[in-house]
Amino acid sequence: MSKEVECGGWAAKDASGVLAPFKFPRRALRPTDVKFKITHCGICHTDLHLIHNEWGSSKYPMVPGHEVVGLVTELGPGAKKFKVGDHVGVGCMVFSCLKCDHCKHGDEQYCDKLVWTYNSEEDGKITMGGYSGFLVADEKFVVRVPDNLPLDAAAPLLCAGITVYSPMKHFGMTQAGKNFGVVGLGGLGHMAVKFGKAFGMKVTVISTSPSKEKEAREVLGAHNFIVSKDSAQMKKAAKTMDYILDTVSAPHPLDALLELLKIDGKLVMVGLPDKPLELPAGVIIFGRRSLAGSFIGSIRETQDMLDFCGKNNVTSMIELVPMDYVNKAMERLRKSDVKYRFVLDVEKTLKP
Ligand code: NAP
Ligand code: ZN
Ligand code: ZN
Repeated sequence: MSKEVECGGWAAKDASGVLAPFKFPRRALRPTDVKFKITHCGICHTDLHLIHNEWGSSKYPMVPGHEVVGLVTELGPGAKKFKVGDHVGVGCMVFSCLKCDHCKHGDEQYCDKLVWTYNSEEDGKITMGGYSGFLVADEKFVVRVPDNLPLDAAAPLLCAGITVYSPMKHFGMTQAGKNFGVVGLGGLGHMAVKFGKAFGMKVTVISTSPSKEKEAREVLGAHNFIVSKDSAQMKKAAKTMDYILDTVSAPHPLDALLELLKIDGKLVMVGLPDKPLELPAGVIIFGRRSLAGSFIGSIRETQDMLDFCGKNNVTSMIELVPMDYVNKAMERLRKSDVKYRFVLDVEKTLKP
């Protein structure tokens, strides 16, 4: 039976959020555990919120990272799902109670006893994420990455991808020809554009960054691009959209976005600003509009999404950066200065 093994990574020691090399023990393999060498890890805006304790829940030292991919190196004696060398990934969660209604119905992301990949307590210890050399997790929470997908560009699928794919499936944002608005063209937003296109929807990007228009149209294939600060453009697009997915990380007004929806349209929030939203009731009442939220996606949905991406060649547009660029990457992510996801080249650049 294996023992606890020392693992190298990068951690934030306090709410200054500065990351630095750090060593910590990974657990000994349990019977149904999978150990994998991390090749790449995406940088999600959630990592940025958490290293700075923006949601008041941060535990230090913190090794962030929940868009983790790599190659299986070892299996517990009862682990059957994978073999050594398989391409695998872990997203935001590594365990749940497996017994509650949510777990039984395959919605384990809503389990009250969910164990996050990092910043979570399990057996008296704090879990540590994918800005590190290897990971150990129960096979139920490990997914298969299709062999035809490059691991670096597949990493962001584990959070950005599933966080938009799950509500798109759940709320019916999959119907070809429907008008689909995506607010915020960042990590989550650009994946929503890609899935919208793959489903045959007419995609409009609603952005604060006019500089993103050319690429949104020409590279991502968006049908339309609206600058949200331009009230004339917003007015022109009023009552044109069937669905809107809001991926914005900072506080922002919702009324102008809801006005873009047709009668019976739906706006789903996935972005998680650190301040409460302001919502004048009239904007949903005079239009019978719905406002909803959605949280990541289940393991079953994550595997379904990865298989869909494998079949349709959908991956993330990334900027691959070395491990010691992580603090600079965080600074740039804060300014929305990334197209569209930073991915850490862990395998090649994490020093042992
Ligand atoms: P990101 O890459 O930073 O993208 C966010 C985008 O929001 C930016 O690129 C920018 O797009 C827009 N934006 C930023 N500041 C804004 C402001 N003040 N007003 C209006 N728009 C602004 O972040 P991400 O990784 O996609 O994550 C987005 C949010 O989703 C974060 O809050 C994250 O914590 C949350 N999240 C939620 C879940 C979930 O399960 N619900 C899962 C993962 C992440 P433009 O330049 O186009 O305006
Ligand atoms: Zn995330
Ligand atoms: Zn549960």
